Amino acid sequence: GGGEADSASSAPAPAASSQRDTRWGDTSSYGAKKKQRVFCQLPNGDWALCTVITTSGDESVVKVPEGKVLRLQTESLQPANPEILDGVDDLMQLSYLSEPSVLYNLQYRYSQDMIYTKAGPVLVAVNPFKKVALYGDEYITAYRSKTMDSPHVYAIADSALREMKRDEVNQSIIISGESGAGKTETAKIAMQYLASLGGGSGIEYEILQTNPILEAFGNAKTLRNDNSSRFGKLIEIHFSTTGRICGAMIQTFLLEKSRVVQCAVGERSYHIFYQLCAGAPPTLREKLNLKKVDEYKYLKQSCCYSIAGVDDAQMFRTVTEAMNIVHISKEDQDNVFAMVSAVLWLGDVSFTIIDNENHVEIIVEEAAETVSRLLGCSIEDLNLALSKRHMKVNNENIVQKLTLAQATDTRDALAKALYASLFEWLVEQINKSLSVGKRRTGRSISILDIYGFESFDKNSFEQFCINYANERLQQHFNRHLFKLEQEEYVEDGIDWAKVEFEDNQDCLNLFEKKPLGLLSLLDEESTFPNATDLTFASKLKQHLDNNSCFRGERGKAFTVRHYAGEVAYDTSGFLEKNRDLLHMDSIQFLAKCKLSIPQMFASKMLAQSDNLESVPYRPSVADSQKLSVAMKFKGQLFQLMQRLESTTPHFIRCIKPNNLQLPAIYGQELVLQQLKCCGVLEVVRISRSGYPTRMTHQKFARRYGFLLEDVASQDPLSVSVAILHQFNILPEMYQVGYTKLFFRTGQIGKLENTRNRT
Ligand code: ATP
Ligand code: MG
Repeated sequence: GGGEADSASSAPAPAASSQRDTRWGDTSSYGAKKKQRVFCQLPNGDWALCTVITTSGDESVVKVPEGKVLRLQTESLQPANPEILDGVDDLMQLSYLSEPSVLYNLQYRYSQDMIYTKAGPVLVAVNPFKKVALYGDEYITAYRSKTMDSPHVYAIADSALREMKRDEVNQSIIISGESGAGKTETAKIAMQYLASLGGGSGIEYEILQTNPILEAFGNAKTLRNDNSSRFGKLIEIHFSTTGRICGAMIQTFLLEKSRVVQCAVGERSYHIFYQLCAGAPPTLREKLNLKKVDEYKYLKQSCCYSIAGVDDAQMFRTVTEAMNIVHISKEDQDNVFAMVSAVLWLGDVSFTIIDNENHVEIIVEEAAETVSRLLGCSIEDLNLALSKRHMKVNNENIVQKLTLAQATDTRDALAKALYASLFEWLVEQINKSLSVGKRRTGRSISILDIYGFESFDKNSFEQFCINYANERLQQHFNRHLFKLEQEEYVEDGIDWAKVEFEDNQDCLNLFEKKPLGLLSLLDEESTFPNATDLTFASKLKQHLDNNSCFRGERGKAFTVRHYAGEVAYDTSGFLEKNRDLLHMDSIQFLAKCKLSIPQMFASKMLAQSDNLESVPYRPSVADSQKLSVAMKFKGQLFQLMQRLESTTPHFIRCIKPNNLQLPAIYGQELVLQQLKCCGVLEVVRISRSGYPTRMTHQKFARRYGFLLEDVASQDPLSVSVAILHQFNILPEMYQVGYTKLFFRTGQIGKLENTRNRT
């Protein structure tokens, strides 16, 4: 790159101080000169690139881009990079790394549809919210043959492939970012690149076709994103020993079940409901007794039925076509849609009060009849499951009648369970279909598309789990980029002033410590029948108030200090969501249904509850026995981290430039806050201030030794030092370690040029 050669010499000295000014380079002694390019902050808070007209004492007069002239304090000006560095493709090349420089560089590129930029080892992707001409076969070929090397998801996927083959190590591509930042699109672009390698049996096409299916059943329109993934996903793509795709395996995390029965105004439930209602052919429509979407209670509550620019009927055809391709039989597809319809109709099952204690029975009408027909059960069984509960009290079996509120909850829990079991079943089928060429000797590339850090006005159990996961991922990121880097310097005995970086171990401890961590306390409280969200909140305060990452708030609230900022959680619903009870009666009901998917799901649950002793979590006597949601999630997360630990990671950070889902709008404040949250600014600072290029003495001596004029010794270290001297590499540009040489950016380039000329 154009700026690389000068970058090391003009690099601001690294400073461990956390003060903004010194962190980004020595701006304190900065004196504005005439015609100089500077950044100034406009009244609206945005930074603009300006030129200095005059400067006298403390004040400067500058020209802003639109030609207007502003008088500002000289002190408030920030130096801008020389024009030659405008729009460099790696932020590391910038001489001044101030926040305005980074923002400007990304914006400069964004305005020219260059949405990808490197930040050292990390790829930053700014969501264009429009079609950009950067994808397809031509680009894939160009990246494969390395005739193109500007930052791109393809380039990342290509490095992963190369490193997998070269080092014989599994790889991972870890994609993160806020909702709507472009994670899922980015994951698909990476998959597209890998799939273009082909596998021979069409397996690569099958892998791509899993996307429309999982999106139909696991994505929904939210206020932030018209196609928001409501689950986390890891896809592991397997390669045979010959380097061809031979299969894949998908793991999903924490589907947001509550959306099935409840969703906010302006949002939608899962796409499949609308797709089925819009796109089912007449015979299916009749068989499933489908109505219009605005006639179902579950869908009506959010007053939102369509998505601008999306044809649900067309999508239905795309989804069924994709199901054919991943070998889901016609019969199974019919069962799937029967379940989707049953869930919708279940929401319309209503109750009538039968006594003066508010006890209820279901009303036998179209809704109940359709549900029982679709699931293959009797109306009596459905009524029993929704209006009665078997309990064991003092070793005696009793039958409790349910009140209207209890029955409604039971009905909704059943709908959620049906939908979740359907989702689980689909993932299983897909995995069966993708595991055809199971030759385990080969390597894999995993792509992780998981919800980013969330902080809303009101944060509940979902945000609690999501943010916990992000703490783990952030630690993985930190460990990989910073700790390993520092450790390597220290191990090799080189003099390198330690650069401070945020370590989030304290926050992870707050979550994970036993018995007094957030997760343990939540589980303990979830086992007490009389516990409430309020008793849970006070328990947290009682045990955690002296933890520096925790702050108890009034009432049911508490605050956690996350790496990305403080988040206030409201414990309302925590216990219930964590228990996620499906009562035994409901499970037994599902087991009796003739429809196979719920039946299989129920038998699995029953098998689990036979195995009671090994399960630590027992909510109350007659309930299905299983792990709490938080514990299950923690287990999944640990397994995920373990799997990622054994791979070489590649990080992609997606950035959302505006909250309107519109092209060509770049909100500096919004971008800056995301760059901070995902550690991009830290990465640039740390990588730049260190010695990013390194080579063993042996390799260095072998590679450049022949350039030496007099060879005095064969010892690699002496040869290396001689080379450094002969080529006048400045002492501040390198360090000699025990086993390796460490270089600042740009140094090896000079030697390579000489070598190539020779
Ligand atoms: P969530 O966490 O809600 O699932 P996400 O990060 O997965 O969000 P996406 O669904 O990938 O976000 O992206 C949101 C929208 O942004 C897409 O539907 C698409 O319109 C647009 N988008 C994202 N990336 C690109 C891209 N590379 N090119 C064109 N449009 C894009
Ligand atoms: Mg997504």
